[in-house]
Amino acid sequence: MRPFSIAIHGGAGTILKSDMTSDLEQAYARGLEDAVNAGYAVLEEGGSAINAVKAAVVILEDNLLFNAGRGSVFTKKGVQEMDAAIMDGKKLAAGAIAGVRNVRNPIELAAEVMKNSNHVFLSGKGANDFAIKQGVKLEPDEYFFSQFRYDQWKVMRDSDNYSLDHTHQGLEELMKDKKFGTVGAVACDSEGNIAAATSTGGMTNKKYGRIGDSPLIGSGTYANNGTCAISCTGHGEPFICAVAAHDVSAMMEYKNLSLHDAMHEVVMVKLVEMEGEGGMIGVDAQGNISMIFNSAGMYRAMKNSKGDFAVGIYQD
Ligand code: ASP
Repeated sequence: MRPFSIAIHGGAGTILKSDMTSDLEQAYARGLEDAVNAGYAVLEEGGSAINAVKAAVVILEDNLLFNAGRGSVFTKKGVQEMDAAIMDGKKLAAGAIAGVRNVRNPIELAAEVMKNSNHVFLSGKGANDFAIKQGVKLEPDEYFFSQFRYDQWKVMRDSDNYSLDHTHQGLEELMKDKKFGTVGAVACDSEGNIAAATSTGGMTNKKYGRIGDSPLIGSGTYANNGTCAISCTGHGEPFICAVAAHDVSAMMEYKNLSLHDAMHEVVMVKLVEMEGEGGMIGVDAQGNISMIFNSAGMYRAMKNSKGDFAVGIYQD
């Protein structure tokens, strides 16, 4: 049997040990462990990479600590609008949704778009109507609410986050203290097929209708059996302009770079030049995993059939 592996992330940003209580740190570590184990269990039973990334992301979406599904951040208008994408590297098939509300697991809706819509990307009301048609589970607004995200938004809601109002009490600290809680997973199954999935509430106080990199195929999410599967997290706008996930794939394909070297070039050189704070996780069809970020931290975990297992938050 070929080696199989999975990696997940729970967002990148200014995650500092000094801001963390040991209880909170443990809760994050447990959340990451649960998700990586759920995805790994699918692979261990001979399941596909696409089912493994979906299983891992569902667990992270259900966890209030992460900015995806339950616990998503609030928009400028004080509501939660979620984006997600999934891609199957074997078929080069993808499904994505943006600006959906009340969908319990946006990654399941993205998977429905991939399998059952004849389209790749649905947004807003059309995506929500498709969720109802497909019987994807919905929840009331209260289900998604978290006091922490609400307080974060209250500090920012009167500001324009693209031109900071430094006089607003607490805002400067909040903007400096950037944490992007998006979640994602990449996996390689025992047949050498790879897949990627990303799900997010986006960025706090984002403008009505703003779509980040996460659901954009090639920017925040990409998978191709010939190269790599990538899921990104960070400040979406530069990741979109860098076409970050596909750029890794292109460097592997056209320059013959390894997964690690291509990811390093994109995250530590190209994105840094564009002030694109964040990181990404990646896997290739041999099951090699890389997790690279240019921010202070990235919630992350990996597990493979060789017995390697790791959970991390800060730079090592
Ligand atoms: N990349 C996401 C976005 O810009 C945010 C994140 O990674 O947390 O919507």
